Amino acid sequence: MTAATRVVVATANAHKLAEIARLVDADALGIVLVPMGELGVPSPVEDGATFADNALIKARACASATGLPAIADDSGIAVDALDGAPGVRSARFAGEDADDAANNLLLLVRLAMAGADTPERRRAAFVCAAALALPDGTAHVEHGRMEGHVVDAPRGAHGFGYDPLFVADATTDERTNGELAPEAKDAISHRAVAFAALAPRLAAALGR
Ligand code: IMP
Repeated sequence: MTAATRVVVATANAHKLAEIARLVDADALGIVLVPMGELGVPSPVEDGATFADNALIKARACASATGLPAIADDSGIAVDALDGAPGVRSARFAGEDADDAANNLLLLVRLAMAGADTPERRRAAFVCAAALALPDGTAHVEHGRMEGHVVDAPRGAHGFGYDPLFVADATTDERTNGELAPEAKDAISHRAVAFAALAPRLAAALGR
């Protein structure tokens, strides 16, 4: 039996890593997912203008540093009333070292300042770009979206980031993502859509 191919996951976010590990069926592909931190790859500067740019920056940095195939996700929330903000700056919305609570609070403040006081005025989408980069320099990107709205106070302890503030259109009972079990979020998430599209690319690249 040949050893499973190692594939680097280009994220330092433990929550994202757990979601990606659930979404990529590593056993079926005969691969082992290895977080970049375990291989000593430093996080690259994410200075791209788009989610796709940043996903490629991360995946390419890992592939070239390790000589292994690498997958990455760049994602965030785009709020209509804020002209798409925080967008690619979602992780750093309230500052370079901002935590989820600070980012969520700033989002609520900005929506209040914009007078966005109904679900219709608080429309938003989670967006994900999933990238695959190979050591030979080739790369692919796929996208996923989850439409919904931002509520006016956080609810739920599941997920991460803006999950406690977001109700997806696909939910029927006004539960936030933070109130959904992980599998329920996986069934509708922007990340699930993007990685489902990337999976055949990964399989083909590995000759599976
Ligand atoms: P990245 O690691 O630079 O891609 O930053 C992604 C940021 O977007 C996270 O830190 C979260 O704030 C937000 N984000 C992305 N995906 C999700 C999600 O599935 N739920 C909640 N927040 C998310």
